[in-house]
Amino acid sequence: MLALVTGAARGIGRAIVLELARNKIDVAINYNSSSEAAKLLSSEVEKLGVKTGIFQANVSDRDQVLKLFADVKKLFGESIAILVNNAGITRDNLLMRMKPEDWHDVINSNLNSVFYCTKEAIRDMAKAKFGRIISISSVVGLVGNSGQANYAASKAGIIAFTKSVAREYASRGITANVVAPGFIETNMTQVLKDDVKSGILQSVPVGRIGSPEDVARAVMFFANECNSYVTGQVLAVDGGMTM
Ligand code: NAP
Repeated sequence: MLALVTGAARGIGRAIVLELARNKIDVAINYNSSSEAAKLLSSEVEKLGVKTGIFQANVSDRDQVLKLFADVKKLFGESIAILVNNAGITRDNLLMRMKPEDWHDVINSNLNSVFYCTKEAIRDMAKAKFGRIISISSVVGLVGNSGQANYAASKAGIIAFTKSVAREYASRGITANVVAPGFIETNMTQVLKDDVKSGILQSVPVGRIGSPEDVARAVMFFANECNSYVTGQVLAVDGGMTM
């Protein structure tokens, strides 16, 4: 079985790749700019005894997504059974200061990419009568966040998109689900100031920052072949933050 993980060279995507590989699933690793990290990850994955390959593509660009899917099919000789839409960016600012390009960049990278990749994956999944689509949203897509109107809108869009795809393809053996991480230790959150971090931590009942592996395990649950009766769901991996 073959999985494609977008934005997979570092952070949460990297942990997802390793979790899938540990479960004996072949993984296509997509990256945009982190080529060295992607190479290192692929050699780590090979050691786990599964097939892998790295594929450069900016998934906010439809043409690059088309090429990505064609390249993956060519290398592995099979179509993608598990798609993990993980790639994402932030361009935070208060609404009054948010530039239109900050809005468009975030919607393109976080939401349009999910549309492009899912659309490309779905035809072969429908033919195979099997598919697992897992998209990484965020708890801010559920509750909103000051300074992140663009990001929160993109992440909420992923949820509504996923529920629609789940309804459309439930009868074809395809499930579509969302993992909504809370506060996870990666480059994305490293940039936050210490006082902001400790403020967020106070709202986490579990009392710690989440790890990329916490998110990866939730993705693996949805990716599992056996979990065919769970679709259109949003699983918050947030230490109880939004309960
Ligand atoms: P990260 O460390 O900043 O990594 C982001 C990844 O996305 C990188 O691998 C990057 O690839 C990739 N990426 C961005 N734009 C891309 C594009 N246009 N095409 C292909 N790849 C692209 O962030 P992270 O924390 O691991 O985030 C992963 C996902 O989890 C994102 O969707 C994020 O919104 C979500 N999330 C994170 C948190 C958190 O607390 N960290 C919380 C909620 C949700 P390159 O490095 O190759 O350019």
